[in-house]
Amino acid sequence: MEYFSIDTPSLKASFKEAVIKGIAPDKGLYYPDHIPSLDPSFFNQIESLSPVEIGLEVMRPFTQDILSKSDLKKVLETVLDFEFPVVPLSDSIGSLELFHGPTLAFKDVGARFMAQCLGLFSEKNQAPVTVLVATSGDTGGAVANGFLGVEGVEVVILYPSGKVSPIQEKQLTTLGQNIKALEVHGSFDDCQKMVKTAFLDPEITDYKQLTSANSINVARWLPQMLYYFLAYKTLKPSLDKSGKELVFSVPSGNFGNICAGMVAREMGLPVSHFIAATNANKVVPNFMKNGTYKAEKSVATISNAMDVGDPSNFVRILQMHENEHGILEKGFSAYSFSDPQTKKAMRAIEKEHHYTTDPHGAVGYLGLLEYQKNHPNTYGVFLETAHPVKFLEVVEETLGKTLTIPKKIVEVLSKQKQATKISDYQGLKRFLMQE
Ligand SMILES: *Cc1c(COP(=O)(O)O)cnc(C)c1O
Repeated sequence: MEYFSIDTPSLKASFKEAVIKGIAPDKGLYYPDHIPSLDPSFFNQIESLSPVEIGLEVMRPFTQDILSKSDLKKVLETVLDFEFPVVPLSDSIGSLELFHGPTLAFKDVGARFMAQCLGLFSEKNQAPVTVLVATSGDTGGAVANGFLGVEGVEVVILYPSGKVSPIQEKQLTTLGQNIKALEVHGSFDDCQKMVKTAFLDPEITDYKQLTSANSINVARWLPQMLYYFLAYKTLKPSLDKSGKELVFSVPSGNFGNICAGMVAREMGLPVSHFIAATNANKVVPNFMKNGTYKAEKSVATISNAMDVGDPSNFVRILQMHENEHGILEKGFSAYSFSDPQTKKAMRAIEKEHHYTTDPHGAVGYLGLLEYQKNHPNTYGVFLETAHPVKFLEVVEETLGKTLTIPKKIVEVLSKQKQATKISDYQGLKRFLMQE
């Protein structure tokens, strides 16, 4: 399998080059040169397969030129060592909990997969790499944790000052070792722009081998497919019995997670519809309504990991659908919800289903309800992408109750924050050049 740049299809890369470069030399995102179909027998027997066996089947075609089967198996065993339960809320709705990993965020899977791959590559080349990553919240913690102590890899994380939750900030600023945090006076979009600029700055790239760990990196993006396969494995018996169609509603920011789910469908996973649920940052819902894509400045919301004004991965979704709005809309919808609607939903879910959601999951739930209004014969799964305690203040205030803080988090809260403040690109450059 080769990967090509969406902007210039003649620019090709192997899996390894795509992972190390992160982004193609023309700034385009890498995309697989084809999406393989899985054999129907795989889906028929999926219930009897372990998560690692499923992961091997799904990820093998995307990595096989570079990773041997036993390397991939080792990577998957490290990555998939926690649960991905689907908690049923009713006959037609379930919550796919993706927060049982080490940082309680769904990004743990992609971040760890990428860290393991880079660790393997640098072991073989003995050339150190610097992972440069911008985070609007959960990426930073997941990447920091996934890469902590990985030999030959240094991690530099940029985050917008005051715009990530206190727990998120602690998770990305307290690890030390090979993990450095930069606190940026600006928005997430500013952080992302600085990272993109650094990748194209020859003074930096001649000095350091930079790579990205944002969801644009294929090693972070593609393994997220596994959530959808694993959810299907869990739900298959009840879907077979009820005859309902499976739909997923994905709280979306940079659109990497949902795009991975849509790749899973291209590989044969029986999902009838994908719903992108966004907060007030509604570039994609607007696009689905009026056919024009217009990037905007991001606005701050209570679901801040989705405060993205120009979602990078949407071009991949377009690519998958021949850049045709008409083709895309057959299997994809997008809806936007305000903070007051999100809070109302959090209260309703608590009251009606005795289930606590974080603001991101609640946005996903709202997307599902909106779609199911006109599609009653569906079983809808919304993705609960973060543990409610990661958004402690807003969840406690909205629900009027106190949450129990898991031990993993209590430990991190007592640690000392270590971050370097920067306010512009020159600050980032100085930091990278002096190391
Ligand atoms: C990153 C994140 C999202 C958005 O995922 P994308 O792949 O960027 O669309 C949603 N919820 C939480 C909690 C996140 O951390």
